[in-house]
Amino acid sequence: MNRFTVEVISQTLNPQQVIYAGMHQDYAEEFVAHDRDRWPNEARCGDIVVTNLLKGGRGHYGPLEHPQIVLNIGWFPHSTMQQIRTHRVGLSFDVQSFRYTGQRILDVVEGKRDVEEVFYLRPLGFYTDRQGKKYEYTEAQRQQDVDWCLEASRRYQERIQQGFSEEHARGLIPFDIRQHWVMSANVRSLMHLLDLRWKADAQLEAQKMCELIWPHFQDWVPAIAAWYEENRMKKARLAP
Ligand SMILES: Cc1cc2nc3c(=O)[nH]c(=O)nc-3n(C[C@H](O)[C@H](O)[C@H](O)COP(=O)(O)OP(=O)(O)OC[C@H]3O[C@@H](n4cnc5c(N)ncnc54)[C@H](O)[C@@H]3O)c2cc1C
Repeated sequence: MNRFTVEVISQTLNPQQVIYAGMHQDYAEEFVAHDRDRWPNEARCGDIVVTNLLKGGRGHYGPLEHPQIVLNIGWFPHSTMQQIRTHRVGLSFDVQSFRYTGQRILDVVEGKRDVEEVFYLRPLGFYTDRQGKKYEYTEAQRQQDVDWCLEASRRYQERIQQGFSEEHARGLIPFDIRQHWVMSANVRSLMHLLDLRWKADAQLEAQKMCELIWPHFQDWVPAIAAWYEENRMKKARLAP
């Protein structure tokens, strides 16, 4: 799990002021951009936005859709990418497709990369299935699965050497190959994603991804993050 990575590529520099400007234009007579010098500072705008848009469940979330953050998310299993990509509103994705890449699978066979740098396997320990049945993932089982990933990488190499395209050979590799993607979101869509993917019944790895997104969100929009933490975080308060 400790290979999981979330880094910021870019973000709106004054997000809470931008939200304020959107909100302010709703009721301001004047053209708000011309009043830029009189906008409250970034921190003050955060407080105003929380009081006027978020507190009391008013549902006036449109202004939160203006500021954008672009994240690079890496080394997560393919299954996590699939789950996160189901979110369609206010998010955009560029995901490694394995149509053009595959060198790191070949590197595994040649001993240049560790199997677990390329393929994700859950940590050892006790788990529960969706029906509540408990089971243990033992060291011996996990080692068998590491061997399985290595064997699949060998088959991949064989097919590539026989002239197969990467998009054809990728069908042979284990499902939870690690994958990188770029994801952009706005303040509202990112909070919605956290609502759905940080709750207790979300898949373990998706919850880990939310944990890694969280400090970036806090740094970016601190007042809104504080409100979110108090009111929604991990509370499974879902949009309809
Ligand atoms: C615990 C869990 C298990 C899941 N299991 C599965 C599974 O087994 N298989 C599977 O395919 N999916 C599964 N999903 C995905 C789920 O069905 C949603 O597709 C996914 O969570 C995207 O969320 P969203 O619909 O809120 O989309 P977002 O893009 O995040 O949309 C934001 C909001 O916009 C509105 N909206 C978006 N699109 C529409 C629309 N077309 N019509 C009306 N309103 C819309 C809704 O209010 C929505 O909540 C699972 C999700 C969770 C959290």
